[in-house]
Amino acid sequence: HDIISTASLRSDRSRCISGSGSGSTDSRADSLDHTNNSRWPRQNSLSMKEWDIPYDELKLFEVIGTGRFGTVYRGSWHGAVAVKLLHVHSLSDDCVPLDTFKHEVATFRKTRHENLVLFMGACMKPPRLAIVTSLCKGMTLYTHIHLRKDKFTANKSVLVAQQISQGMGYLHARGIIHKDLKSKNIFLENGKVVITDFGLFSVTKLCFGNNARGDSLGIPPGWLCYLAPEVTRALTPHASLHLPFSKATDVYAFGTVWYELLCGEFPFKGQPPEAIIWQVGKGVKQSLANMQASRDIKDILMQCWSYRSCDRPDFPTLLTTLQKLPKKRLARSPSHPVHLSRSADS
Ligand code: ADP
Ligand code: MG
Repeated sequence: HDIISTASLRSDRSRCISGSGSGSTDSRADSLDHTNNSRWPRQNSLSMKEWDIPYDELKLFEVIGTGRFGTVYRGSWHGAVAVKLLHVHSLSDDCVPLDTFKHEVATFRKTRHENLVLFMGACMKPPRLAIVTSLCKGMTLYTHIHLRKDKFTANKSVLVAQQISQGMGYLHARGIIHKDLKSKNIFLENGKVVITDFGLFSVTKLCFGNNARGDSLGIPPGWLCYLAPEVTRALTPHASLHLPFSKATDVYAFGTVWYELLCGEFPFKGQPPEAIIWQVGKGVKQSLANMQASRDIKDILMQCWSYRSCDRPDFPTLLTTLQKLPKKRLARSPSHPVHLSRSADS
């Protein structure tokens, strides 16, 4: 079950296009490949073990931060790395099953793109579960936009959005749904976008739940704005593992990042979670009336935030749209006419 042949790697693309990106698709396909292995010489086999990093080989330095599913350390393993250590206390039913972790590692393993963080390996021996990636040197878009209050010109925002679309387009073509696209998971390194944490949602949710207590939804601050209407409508205190994430919900989240880039703040700023859930669930969008941007730019937002998932563009289409934006109309000058989007305030 652990063995993945190069045949299976070659057929990744076709099998993943319709896959949900969840581990179960992999697991089924892997065992199928295993049975078809006879066509392929033994030495073509790759084992999950090749991605297994013995915990003892890792050097852990200072804590970079603590996220939803564990602690991230600056570390060293043949050079500088980031180590995401999951706080796994036991492998009881209410914590992360090793299979889920392995399947999400398998998802990570399939990615090679310059706008995606480099996956280097994982520690897969409980209770030491860790994911090792390259260390991102820049700052996250979140830090730039919300903490440092850096202003992104429209032209720079477009360049960033294009790279996000490129990385996300690649992920989706591989059948991987990010499920947690947000400005905190997008690094900027000398103008280059690096997306992190794709496909790890199940592990994080399995291991730490959503801090749900009783009737509380336990929603981490800043998360709601990225959730598409069909996801917010499915939120219940205990349903986080079965939320209907899809390629289209990733596109919705991209819309929110696009809004952050352009406006320097989150949509529905200052509103309580209940109000946001109610509005998003009903199809009410953040007003763009006060936004200084061209119609084209606002249209991208409105398309990504479409109420119906089928009305949202895919990433290749978004990339083409972003590349076609006329540069001269992007400048935010006082003389530049402000176009209001049709649907912004409806
Ligand atoms: P979140 O994404 O919600 O901030 P994480 O657990 O993913 O939570 O990250 C915790 C901290 O570690 C954050 O400050 C994040 O920017 C940082 N971090 C995560 N991955 C990397 C990485 N590959 N390189 C550098 N810093 C990272
Ligand atoms: Mg993260």
